[in-house]
Amino acid sequence: MTVRVRFAPSPTGFLHIGSVRTALYNWLFARHNKGRFILRIEDTDEVRSTDESLNAILEGMRWLGLEWDEGPEIGGDYGPYFQMQRLDIYTKYAEQLIKEDKAYCCYCTPEELATRREEAVKQKRPPKYDGRCRKLTEDKKKEYEKQGRKHVVRFKMPASGKTKINDLVRGAIEFDNAVLDDFVLLKSNGTPIYNFANVIDDSLMQISHIIRGDDHISNTPRQIVLYEALGFKLPEFAHVPMIHGADGGRLSKRHGATAVSQYHEEGYLPESLRNYLALLGWSTSDSQQIFSLEEMIEKFSLDGCGKSAAVFDAQKLVWMNGEYIRKIDIDRLVELSVPYLEKAGLLKRPIRYESLKKIIALEQEKMKLISDVPKLVDFFLLDDVEFDEKAVNKVLKKDHVLNVLEVMKERLTDLNDKDFKAEQLEKLTRDTAEELNLKAGQVFHPIRVSVSGRTTGPGLFEMMEVLGKEKVLVRIERTLREKVNL
Ligand code: GLU
Repeated sequence: MTVRVRFAPSPTGFLHIGSVRTALYNWLFARHNKGRFILRIEDTDEVRSTDESLNAILEGMRWLGLEWDEGPEIGGDYGPYFQMQRLDIYTKYAEQLIKEDKAYCCYCTPEELATRREEAVKQKRPPKYDGRCRKLTEDKKKEYEKQGRKHVVRFKMPASGKTKINDLVRGAIEFDNAVLDDFVLLKSNGTPIYNFANVIDDSLMQISHIIRGDDHISNTPRQIVLYEALGFKLPEFAHVPMIHGADGGRLSKRHGATAVSQYHEEGYLPESLRNYLALLGWSTSDSQQIFSLEEMIEKFSLDGCGKSAAVFDAQKLVWMNGEYIRKIDIDRLVELSVPYLEKAGLLKRPIRYESLKKIIALEQEKMKLISDVPKLVDFFLLDDVEFDEKAVNKVLKKDHVLNVLEVMKERLTDLNDKDFKAEQLEKLTRDTAEELNLKAGQVFHPIRVSVSGRTTGPGLFEMMEVLGKEKVLVRIERTLREKVNL
């Protein structure tokens, strides 16, 4: 059997981190099984579906490397891949079900249905449709049509029996058909509702496994009876647990960013988000944390998916992003950093690519988000550094500082440009400390604060080398001038 799986988003909002996790599982399952990954757009909600949302889905998927084998923009043998372009297919199947007496036209108005629902709730009865249009006579139908009533098409739900799901993640789940009502297949404007279109498309697109969030479990029995009524072969079902915030509620905006695009903007790498999301609901027996893409594809299985909700841990994602940033190629890191530096106004002056590369390379170890770049490197790129108040109080206000800076200024001035290298700078600074009878730190710290304005940063001597002799001296001189007022 060829594995064919799909991601079937509705383009009604941004691409939610939970949805993209489902897309990722489908993609991994397809790649692991050398199958096909299909992207189908469920755009039947005409009011809420937008092009903007569709673009966010396509962009988000591409950014995360979840390329599809069939779907929008590339087509495929089972298209169209937009439900609104498949309306005639749904109509045809609705007519077939009506003909076989498995579905019927219902003329009840939304107002009538609402009133009956309210009454049922008041009387503590389940508010399901009472099936009154199941047996309308032809005359009655004509009368309704004359009155100008519109109709929907409803499915004739079997009144008894059980529907069983053999879920690949959750195991067997059974539903009593009696609790399910005659649900709508086609709305009065002819568009299908989710359960109907979804079943027809999954079947015609020969989807072998339905992997989706377990918020859809309650839809599955309706879908299964539809598969049976339509004479379609049942696919396998795998419902993966939802993602929760740390407080146990379903992941929502109040827990922080939920749109994939926001993670992109905030400076997460697609590979770290992908790795992190893979682990939200799936694990290997040895709890491996970091996976190359090939490894993830090789090791992914539905057996490794848990049943209980996964908890989104923003700290862990940041940690993982740092791990990935440390490993990426420096040229890529520069390329990714440039938009953030531009936005922060730090690239107004022309700078040689090699210099920028050196600056960013010095910070690569510490970076957790690409968006951290401007504040980590601004002192390299700005004309003047701003002194951090704490650094001034802690370091520059000490008595020995004036002398240290004077001596260092002289010695650095005497150093040849070609010797302005980390190794020589370190030797010179250590020797100075010894001669002045000071601890290394008593010399290192004032120099660091003078040239960078802060107490933390990359290795002092590498930093000085990259800043260059001229900038280092200008900054030490400035500190000396300002020191008088400190
Ligand atoms: N359009 C549905 C959704 O976005 C698809 C659910 C499914 O995978 O069946 O929730």
